[in-house]
Amino acid sequence: MTLDLAGAARLLREARNVGVLTGAGISAESGIPTFREAMTGLWATFDPEELATMEAFRRQPRMVWEWYAERRKRIGEARPNPGHLALVELERRVGSFTLITQNIDGLHQAAGSRNVVELHGNIRRVKCAGEDTVVERWDETGELPPRCAVCGDHLRPDVVWFGELLPEAALQRAWQVAEECDLFLSIGTSNLVEPAAALPWLAHRSGATVLVINPTTEGQRHGAGIHHLQGPAGELLPALVGVA
Ligand code: NAD
Repeated sequence: MTLDLAGAARLLREARNVGVLTGAGISAESGIPTFREAMTGLWATFDPEELATMEAFRRQPRMVWEWYAERRKRIGEARPNPGHLALVELERRVGSFTLITQNIDGLHQAAGSRNVVELHGNIRRVKCAGEDTVVERWDETGELPPRCAVCGDHLRPDVVWFGELLPEAALQRAWQVAEECDLFLSIGTSNLVEPAAALPWLAHRSGATVLVINPTTEGQRHGAGIHHLQGPAGELLPALVGVA
Protein backbone atom coordinates (compact mmCIF):
# COMPACT_ATOMS: atom_id res chain seq x y z
CA MET A 1 0.00 0.00 0.00
CA THR A 2 1.30 3.47 -0.83
CA LEU A 3 1.23 5.74 2.21
CA ASP A 4 1.32 9.49 2.56
CA LEU A 5 3.69 11.24 4.94
CA ALA A 6 1.09 11.47 7.73
CA GLY A 7 0.38 7.73 7.55
CA ALA A 8 4.08 6.88 7.63
CA ALA A 9 4.64 9.31 10.52
CA ARG A 10 1.95 7.50 12.48
CA LEU A 11 3.82 4.22 12.03
CA LEU A 12 6.98 5.85 13.33
CA ARG A 13 5.27 7.38 16.36
CA GLU A 14 3.86 4.01 17.36
CA ALA A 15 7.12 2.11 16.93
CA ARG A 16 9.15 1.02 19.96
CA ASN A 17 11.78 -1.08 18.24
CA VAL A 18 12.91 0.07 14.81
CA GLY A 19 15.11 -1.82 12.37
CA VAL A 20 16.39 -0.04 9.27
CA LEU A 21 18.03 -1.48 6.16
CA THR A 22 19.73 0.94 3.79
CA GLY A 23 21.20 0.46 0.32
CA ALA A 24 23.01 2.50 -2.29
CA GLY A 25 19.92 4.70 -2.82
CA ILE A 26 20.35 6.56 0.48
CA SER A 27 23.80 7.72 -0.63
CA ALA A 28 22.70 8.67 -4.15
CA GLU A 29 21.96 12.23 -3.01
CA SER A 30 25.49 12.45 -1.57
CA GLY A 31 26.73 11.94 -5.12
CA ILE A 32 27.94 8.38 -4.67
CA PRO A 33 27.31 6.38 -7.80
CA THR A 34 25.77 2.94 -7.69
CA PHE A 35 27.93 -0.01 -8.65
CA ARG A 36 27.00 0.24 -12.30
CA GLU A 37 27.33 4.01 -12.44
CA ALA A 38 30.86 3.71 -11.01
CA MET A 39 32.00 1.86 -14.11
CA THR A 40 32.76 4.94 -16.16
CA GLY A 41 35.87 6.52 -17.69
CA LEU A 42 38.88 4.25 -17.39
CA TRP A 43 36.75 1.51 -15.95
CA ALA A 44 33.91 1.61 -18.50
CA THR A 45 34.88 -1.65 -20.14
CA PHE A 46 35.03 -3.67 -16.92
CA ASP A 47 32.31 -5.78 -15.40
CA PRO A 48 32.10 -5.10 -11.63
CA GLU A 49 31.43 -8.77 -11.00
CA GLU A 50 34.81 -9.48 -12.57
CA LEU A 51 36.68 -6.83 -10.57
CA ALA A 52 35.11 -7.24 -7.16
CA THR A 53 36.23 -10.81 -6.56
CA MET A 54 39.14 -12.46 -4.79
CA GLU A 55 40.08 -14.21 -8.04
CA ALA A 56 40.39 -10.84 -9.83
CA PHE A 57 42.45 -9.48 -6.94
CA ARG A 58 44.84 -12.43 -6.97
CA ARG A 59 45.17 -12.15 -10.75
CA GLN A 60 45.55 -8.37 -10.97
CA PRO A 61 46.00 -7.01 -7.44
CA ARG A 62 47.26 -3.59 -8.52
CA MET A 63 44.36 -2.97 -10.87
CA VAL A 64 41.73 -3.94 -8.29
CA TRP A 65 43.52 -1.87 -5.59
CA GLU A 66 43.55 1.17 -7.89
CA TRP A 67 39.88 0.77 -8.77
CA TYR A 68 39.04 0.81 -5.06
CA ALA A 69 41.45 3.68 -4.42
CA GLU A 70 39.51 5.76 -6.92
CA ARG A 71 36.16 4.86 -5.32
CA ARG A 72 37.59 5.49 -1.84
CA LYS A 73 38.73 8.95 -2.91
CA ARG A 74 35.32 9.80 -4.30
CA ILE A 75 33.59 8.49 -1.19
CA GLY A 76 36.04 10.42 1.01
CA GLU A 77 34.90 13.63 -0.66
CA ALA A 78 31.19 12.88 -0.17
CA ARG A 79 29.18 14.24 2.74
CA PRO A 80 26.14 12.74 4.49
CA ASN A 81 22.88 14.06 3.06
CA PRO A 82 19.64 14.99 4.88
CA GLY A 83 18.49 11.35 4.64
CA HIS A 84 21.50 10.13 6.64
CA LEU A 85 21.00 12.96 9.15
CA ALA A 86 17.29 12.20 9.62
CA LEU A 87 18.21 8.64 10.62
CA VAL A 88 20.55 10.04 13.29
CA GLU A 89 17.63 12.03 14.70
CA LEU A 90 15.38 8.97 14.56
CA GLU A 91 17.95 6.91 16.51
CA ARG A 92 17.95 9.62 19.19
CA ARG A 93 14.17 9.41 19.57
CA VAL A 94 13.41 5.70 19.37
CA GLY A 95 14.05 3.42 22.35
CA SER A 96 15.57 0.60 20.35
CA PHE A 97 17.06 1.39 16.95
CA THR A 98 19.45 -0.55 14.72
CA LEU A 99 20.65 0.58 11.33
CA ILE A 100 21.73 -2.23 9.02
CA THR A 101 23.49 -1.04 5.91
CA GLN A 102 24.64 -2.65 2.69
CA ASN A 103 26.67 0.45 1.92
CA ILE A 104 30.42 0.47 2.22
CA ASP A 105 30.76 4.26 2.26
CA GLY A 106 30.68 4.87 6.03
CA LEU A 107 28.33 7.85 5.59
CA HIS A 108 25.93 6.74 8.33
CA GLN A 109 28.74 6.84 10.89
CA ALA A 110 30.01 10.11 9.40
CA ALA A 111 26.51 11.55 9.94
CA GLY A 112 26.50 10.41 13.58
CA SER A 113 24.55 7.14 13.57
CA ARG A 114 25.79 4.91 16.40
CA ASN A 115 24.19 1.51 16.21
CA VAL A 116 25.24 0.57 12.68
CA VAL A 117 25.61 -2.97 11.34
CA GLU A 118 27.77 -3.13 8.22
CA LEU A 119 26.77 -6.10 6.12
CA HIS A 120 29.21 -5.52 3.27
CA GLY A 121 32.17 -4.00 5.09
CA ASN A 122 33.58 -0.50 4.75
CA ILE A 123 35.76 0.83 1.94
CA ARG A 124 37.57 3.12 4.39
CA ARG A 125 39.09 0.05 6.08
CA VAL A 126 41.81 -2.24 4.76
CA LYS A 127 42.47 -5.85 5.70
CA CYS A 128 45.09 -8.49 5.04
CA ALA A 129 44.04 -10.66 2.09
CA GLY A 130 45.63 -13.71 3.69
CA GLU A 131 44.77 -13.41 7.37
CA ASP A 132 41.49 -11.48 7.03
CA THR A 133 42.52 -9.11 9.85
CA VAL A 134 41.89 -5.36 9.75
CA VAL A 135 45.15 -3.44 9.23
CA GLU A 136 45.54 0.19 10.25
CA ARG A 137 49.17 0.90 9.36
CA TRP A 138 51.49 -0.22 6.65
CA ASP A 139 54.77 0.84 5.08
CA GLU A 140 54.41 3.06 2.02
CA THR A 141 57.07 1.43 -0.12
CA GLY A 142 55.48 2.48 -3.38
CA GLU A 143 54.36 -1.08 -4.06
CA LEU A 144 50.65 -1.41 -4.81
CA PRO A 145 48.82 -2.98 -3.13
CA PRO A 146 50.85 -2.47 0.03
CA ARG A 147 51.86 -5.52 2.05
CA CYS A 148 50.75 -6.76 5.47
CA ALA A 149 53.58 -6.12 7.96
CA VAL A 150 52.82 -9.41 9.73
CA CYS A 151 52.57 -11.96 6.94
CA GLY A 152 53.66 -10.10 3.79
CA ASP A 153 50.46 -10.83 1.88
CA HIS A 154 48.72 -8.05 -0.03
CA LEU A 155 46.33 -5.66 1.68
CA ARG A 156 42.83 -5.33 0.23
CA PRO A 157 39.73 -3.25 0.93
CA ASP A 158 37.60 -4.55 3.82
CA VAL A 159 34.52 -5.03 1.69
CA VAL A 160 32.57 -8.16 0.81
CA TRP A 161 33.30 -9.25 -2.73
CA PHE A 162 31.14 -11.39 -5.00
CA GLY A 163 31.35 -15.00 -3.91
CA GLU A 164 32.39 -14.12 -0.34
CA LEU A 165 30.42 -14.74 2.82
CA LEU A 166 29.05 -11.82 4.80
CA PRO A 167 30.65 -11.18 8.19
CA GLU A 168 28.94 -13.71 10.43
CA ALA A 169 28.43 -11.47 13.49
CA ALA A 170 26.88 -8.68 11.37
CA LEU A 171 24.55 -11.12 9.66
CA GLN A 172 23.43 -12.62 12.97
CA ARG A 173 22.68 -9.19 14.38
CA ALA A 174 20.76 -8.20 11.25
CA TRP A 175 18.69 -11.38 11.44
CA GLN A 176 17.91 -10.75 15.09
CA VAL A 177 16.89 -7.13 14.43
CA ALA A 178 14.54 -8.21 11.63
CA GLU A 179 12.95 -10.81 13.89
CA GLU A 180 12.54 -8.55 16.92
CA CYS A 181 11.65 -5.10 15.59
CA ASP A 182 8.08 -3.85 15.31
CA LEU A 183 8.79 -1.44 12.43
CA PHE A 184 11.28 -2.19 9.65
CA LEU A 185 12.33 0.54 7.20
CA SER A 186 13.82 -0.58 3.89
CA ILE A 187 15.44 2.47 2.32
CA GLY A 188 17.13 2.86 -1.08
CA THR A 189 17.71 -0.78 -1.82
CA SER A 190 16.64 -2.70 -4.89
CA ASN A 191 16.38 -5.95 -2.92
CA LEU A 192 18.42 -7.78 -5.50
CA VAL A 193 21.42 -8.67 -3.39
CA GLU A 194 20.92 -11.60 -1.01
CA PRO A 195 20.98 -12.20 1.89
CA ALA A 196 20.21 -8.54 2.72
CA ALA A 197 17.21 -8.68 0.39
CA ALA A 198 15.57 -11.25 2.66
CA LEU A 199 15.61 -9.00 5.73
CA PRO A 200 12.44 -6.95 5.09
CA TRP A 201 10.48 -10.11 4.43
CA LEU A 202 11.88 -11.82 7.49
CA ALA A 203 10.75 -8.79 9.50
CA HIS A 204 7.34 -8.98 7.83
CA ARG A 205 6.98 -12.68 8.58
CA SER A 206 8.03 -12.03 12.17
CA GLY A 207 5.16 -9.57 12.61
CA ALA A 208 6.78 -6.19 11.94
CA THR A 209 5.23 -3.49 9.80
CA VAL A 210 7.48 -2.78 6.80
CA LEU A 211 7.90 0.68 5.31
CA VAL A 212 9.75 0.86 1.99
CA ILE A 213 11.21 4.25 1.02
CA ASN A 214 12.30 4.37 -2.61
CA PRO A 215 11.50 6.48 -5.69
CA THR A 216 10.19 3.31 -7.32
CA THR A 217 8.03 0.45 -6.09
CA GLU A 218 9.39 -1.76 -8.87
CA GLY A 219 11.00 -4.94 -7.63
CA GLN A 220 9.64 -4.41 -4.10
CA ARG A 221 7.15 -6.70 -2.45
CA HIS A 222 3.59 -5.68 -1.83
CA GLY A 223 0.95 -6.95 0.54
CA ALA A 224 -0.68 -6.47 3.90
CA GLY A 225 1.68 -4.83 6.37
CA ILE A 226 4.06 -3.61 3.64
CA HIS A 227 3.81 0.12 3.01
CA HIS A 228 5.47 2.25 0.38
CA LEU A 229 6.55 5.84 0.62
CA GLN A 230 7.62 6.83 -2.86
CA GLY A 231 10.37 9.39 -3.43
CA PRO A 232 14.00 10.23 -2.67
CA ALA A 233 15.20 9.41 0.85
CA GLY A 234 17.01 12.75 1.18
CA GLU A 235 13.66 14.54 0.95
CA LEU A 236 11.25 12.05 2.50
CA LEU A 237 13.21 11.06 5.61
CA PRO A 238 13.69 14.60 6.99
CA ALA A 239 10.04 15.38 6.22
CA LEU A 240 8.94 12.19 7.92
CA VAL A 241 11.06 12.68 11.02
CA GLY A 242 9.90 16.30 11.08
CA VAL A 243 6.21 15.40 11.40
CA ALA A 244 6.53 12.16 13.42
P1 NAD B 1 21.06 -0.88 -5.92
O1 NAD B 1 21.98 0.00 -6.72
O2 NAD B 1 20.78 -2.25 -6.40
O3 NAD B 1 19.64 -0.16 -5.75
C1 NAD B 1 19.54 1.18 -5.38
C2 NAD B 1 18.09 1.44 -5.01
O4 NAD B 1 18.01 2.78 -4.54
C3 NAD B 1 17.11 1.32 -6.18
O5 NAD B 1 15.98 0.58 -5.75
C4 NAD B 1 16.73 2.77 -6.48
O6 NAD B 1 15.39 2.89 -6.95
C5 NAD B 1 16.89 3.41 -5.11
N1 NAD B 1 17.16 4.84 -5.10
C6 NAD B 1 17.78 5.59 -6.06
N2 NAD B 1 17.84 6.87 -5.65
C7 NAD B 1 17.27 6.92 -4.43
C8 NAD B 1 17.03 7.97 -3.50
N3 NAD B 1 17.40 9.23 -3.75
N4 NAD B 1 16.41 7.68 -2.33
C9 NAD B 1 16.00 6.40 -2.06
N5 NAD B 1 16.20 5.37 -2.90
C10 NAD B 1 16.83 5.63 -4.08
O7 NAD B 1 21.64 -0.86 -4.43
P2 NAD B 1 21.60 -1.94 -3.30
O8 NAD B 1 20.23 -2.50 -3.18
O9 NAD B 1 22.24 -1.28 -2.12
O10 NAD B 1 22.55 -3.13 -3.80
C11 NAD B 1 23.75 -2.90 -4.51
C12 NAD B 1 25.04 -3.39 -3.84
O11 NAD B 1 26.07 -2.45 -4.19
C13 NAD B 1 25.01 -3.41 -2.35
O12 NAD B 1 25.64 -4.58 -2.01
C14 NAD B 1 25.87 -2.23 -1.89
O13 NAD B 1 26.76 -2.67 -0.87
C15 NAD B 1 26.73 -1.92 -3.07
N6 NAD B 1 26.90 -0.44 -3.28
C16 NAD B 1 27.19 0.40 -2.23
C17 NAD B 1 27.32 1.76 -2.45
C18 NAD B 1 27.64 2.67 -1.29
O14 NAD B 1 28.30 2.26 -0.35
N7 NAD B 1 27.15 3.92 -1.32
C19 NAD B 1 27.17 2.29 -3.72
C20 NAD B 1 26.91 1.41 -4.76
C21 NAD B 1 26.77 0.04 -4.53
